[in-house]
Formats: sequence, structure tokens, C-alpha cells
Amino acid sequence: MELVKNLSRRQFIDGEWVESSNKATRKIINPYNQEVIVEVAEGTTEDVERAILAARRSFDDGEYANETGEVKGQKVRAVADKIKEHREELAKLETLDTGKTLEESYADMDDIHNVFMYFAGLADKDGGELVNSPIPNTESKIVKEPIGVVTQITPWNYPLLQASWKIAPALATGCSIVMKPSEITPLTTIRVFELMEEVGFPKGVINLVLGAGADIGDIMSTHKDVDLVSFTGGLQTGKRIMRQAADHVTNIALELGGKNPNIIFDDADFEVAVDQALNGGLFHAGQVCSAGSRIIVHNDIKADFEKALIDRIHNIKMGDGFESSTELGPLISKEHRDKVEGYVEIAKEEGATIAVGGKRPEREDLQDGFFFEPTVITDCDTSMRIVQEEVFGPVVTIEGFDTEEEAVRLANDSIYGLAGGVFTTDINKANRVAKKLRMGTVWINDFHPYFAQAPWGGYKQSGIGRELGHHGLEEYLETKHILTNTQSEPVHWFGKQ
Ligand code: NAD
Repeated sequence: MELVKNLSRRQFIDGEWVESSNKATRKIINPYNQEVIVEVAEGTTEDVERAILAARRSFDDGEYANETGEVKGQKVRAVADKIKEHREELAKLETLDTGKTLEESYADMDDIHNVFMYFAGLADKDGGELVNSPIPNTESKIVKEPIGVVTQITPWNYPLLQASWKIAPALATGCSIVMKPSEITPLTTIRVFELMEEVGFPKGVINLVLGAGADIGDIMSTHKDVDLVSFTGGLQTGKRIMRQAADHVTNIALELGGKNPNIIFDDADFEVAVDQALNGGLFHAGQVCSAGSRIIVHNDIKADFEKALIDRIHNIKMGDGFESSTELGPLISKEHRDKVEGYVEIAKEEGATIAVGGKRPEREDLQDGFFFEPTVITDCDTSMRIVQEEVFGPVVTIEGFDTEEEAVRLANDSIYGLAGGVFTTDINKANRVAKKLRMGTVWINDFHPYFAQAPWGGYKQSGIGRELGHHGLEEYLETKHILTNTQSEPVHWFGKQ
């Protein structure tokens, strides 16, 4: 296949492209037709350890870490330029690997370019801070330093986008990294490591390992030479990483799952709310951490709202992400579709109603892909697993409410707290509700927008820490206080004659 003809199949460790230490490989599958796209190295724990040690050595050498902010910014900007230059190739590679529409992949690449540009701009901005010392004849200053060696672990739903949120701030601050993309979708990350090699970083600053987290991931949170584990993925994996990082009190940054409410008041612009409920719930076939999978709609408009949603869903075009008419691609894998199907069965057992979808499409040309029909589930309440657990598929549930207080209570009734939406034409009500929602992001009369300048992250079990914005840079920095005594004299606390 032309697109992957020259792509490396290897890992990038200590400045070299290397096979797995046991020569193992893994087939990367196109979720649209189950064809093998390419076979790449399947790394070992030994490979990851080598990468961590290379990162440690490079960081301690300080060749990159001690560069000026200006030089680091230039490097990160050079990566941004490469992303722009290779936009089309990278977008196509992402669609091939994930099944998402090409339009979405192009949007991802533009966002990724912006992420690198934003952090490039921040690299030389922090000049430290002088403190008014209360001790006479002292000078006191606060400086920020790169946190050190960072292991970075990403999921399969937004492979390169999630990687960019980690790589850009790490390189802007001067950290050394060991990146492990999802074993299911490593292709764009491999390509960007090739592009970063062209930009040029000292040996050991950027390392890429490949393979299944279940087999090689543990060392990334247990190794004593790691200063920060930055993880994006599922809740259970996040909990495991958090427990393991405790051994060496390693810093953690966790971006985990969500079960995001979308509150629709009866005074909302009906057409906009229906349209955004579809965007929120079905974007990338619902495989989005911030998917608006819990629609909470005022009882006075609930029946009309359900009908309008279902009518629009009948028109959705499923298919090949490379076709410009396609609106909804396949799910990522057989195992994942089994999981989504399993949740629909659970919903039925719990007494909910499958109002539309809930099954695989019958269309002949979709049989080889992991497709699942967009699904609306009604007659739900918060006691149900279908309302509480992350399905990560094109599945939305609908609950009704009567009062503002009830809407807020339902929306907050979740272990998660990643994001939520509020639709109403009453701006005071919108802001009142936004303030009461225990979530890292709240959209008013919109769903899904995020950008490099604003922080992203979760309350409650949706995570710890923030990516993007200047908060995203902070994750990669340590804070140090330096005090200088300008008239140093003996203090004679001890042993005074
Ligand atoms: P996952 O937890 O199964 O895997 C994520 C990554 O962790 C993969 O690279 C995997 O190989 C690795 N991994 C697995 N076990 C590991 C271990 N013991 N140690 C280290 N790494 C390990 O998640 P997934 O199925 O790839 O992704 C979907 C999940 O990601 C969803 O829950 C979604 O909500 C979440 N997500 C969150 C955000 C966010 O910003 N909060 C963004 C995207 C995805």
C-alpha cells in the first residue's frame, strides 16, 4: 500500500530505529475492511527499559533540557511545520488506521498543528518570578524546570491528537520522552517520530516504543527513572497506573473516561439542540472521551426531541472514511464492537427501550467493517448501567427532567466529570447550571469544541491534571525556590563559645 510503503515498522530508541528485542511483530488492521495495513514491531519490556534509560541519560546530560526557551520553541515550531507540510499524508494515514472520516482526520491534523504552534509560543515565556523575601539581605526567586523523564501513553481514538497534547509541552519544556501509542493505531505516531528525527533532537530525547500496554506498559509507571507518567485511556488502566506510580511517588497525569451529560432545556433553540446532540453523541462513532452520550431533556419537549433525533439518524450515511459522503465510520475493532453490543443487551435487560439502531447494519458493503448503527435508547434512569458506564460507541441514552435542580442532580450523578453541555436561550440559567456541573469543561449551546489555548481534563474519576493551555505546560514543569544571602555572616546557632 502506497501510503505505508516507506513507513518505518520499528521503534525509535536512543536515536535509532530498532526492531523488537525478540523480533515480534503485530498486524495493524483497517477497521473498515479488516485488511492488514502493515506489520510493525511489538516491543518488549526490555525495549521499554532501554528507552527509559536513554531518556534518563539524555535528560541528565542536559544537552536539550538546558537549551534556552527560544531554541526549544524553534524545535517545536519546526515539528508544527512538518505536520503542516505532511497534512494530507498524515490525515489519510489516520483514516486508514482508525476508520474515522477523512474530513475529521484533516480537522485533527489542523488541531495538532495548532497544538505544536501554541506550545512553541509558550516555550520562552516563563522567565521565573522574584519574591519579596521577608529575610533581610536575601534575594529570593522561583524558577521552573523541566520535570525530567516522561513516559507517555495514548489511546486509539485520537491517536496523533492525544500524542500531540503530550509531545508538544514535553519538548517545549525540555523533557525527555518515551511515547507508547495504542497498539491498535500506532501509524501516525510512527510517522511523526520520523518527522521529528528530521527536525533533529539529541539522542535519547525522543523515544518511541510499540506494543500492548497490558504486556509492556507496567514498567512505564514502575521504573525508578521515570519522573512523570502521562496517560490517556480507560479508567481501569488509569487506576492501575496510579497504584503502580505510588511505589516511587512518580508524578501522574491522567486523562480518563467520561459519561458526559447534555442538558436540553425546553427554551433551547430546538433545531440547534437536536443537531448538537447528534454531534455530541455520534462524532467518531461515539468513540470520544467527551461524547455527549447522556441526553437529559426537559419533559415538555422530550417526545418531540426523541422523534427529531431518530428522524435525523435515519439519514446518516455509514461507510468508508475515505468517501466524502460518509458521515459515520466503523468502530475500531471486533472486540470493541462486541463490547458496545454487550451494552445494548444490558440496556434491554435493564428495561430500557432501543428506539433506533442497536444492531449491526445490514448493508452488504459494510459487512467486512466493524460497523454499528447509531442508537438511541429511551426509558432510562440513572440507576442503569447503560446510563452510568462509558459505552464508547454511537449510543445515546435519553432521560427526562422537570426542574433545573433535577437536571443538575441527574447530570452530576456520575463517577465521571469530564465534560457536559447545556442548551437554553436563558443565558443566566446557562451560567448558573454551568457553575454547578462538576466537570472540567462545560459547553453552553455547543458541544465538543476544544482548542490548544484552553485546559482540558476531568473532575472526579475522569482524571488528574490538565492538558492544553498553560496548565498543560505546568504538568511538565517542576517549581524551584532559590534563595541567595547577599551578606552572609555566621548565625551562631550551634556550638557558640
Ligand atoms: P486503554 O486504557 O485500554 O488503553 C490506553 C493505552 O494504555 C494504550 O496505549 C494501552 O496499550 C495502554 N495500556 C494498557 N494497559 C497498560 C498498563 N498496564 N500500563 C501502561 N499502559 C497500558 O484505553 P483505550 O481503549 O485505548 O482508549 C479508550 C479510553 O480512553 C476511553 O475510556 C476514553 O474515554 C479514554 N480517553 C480519554 C481522553 C481524555 O482526554 N480524557 C481522551 C481520549 C480517550
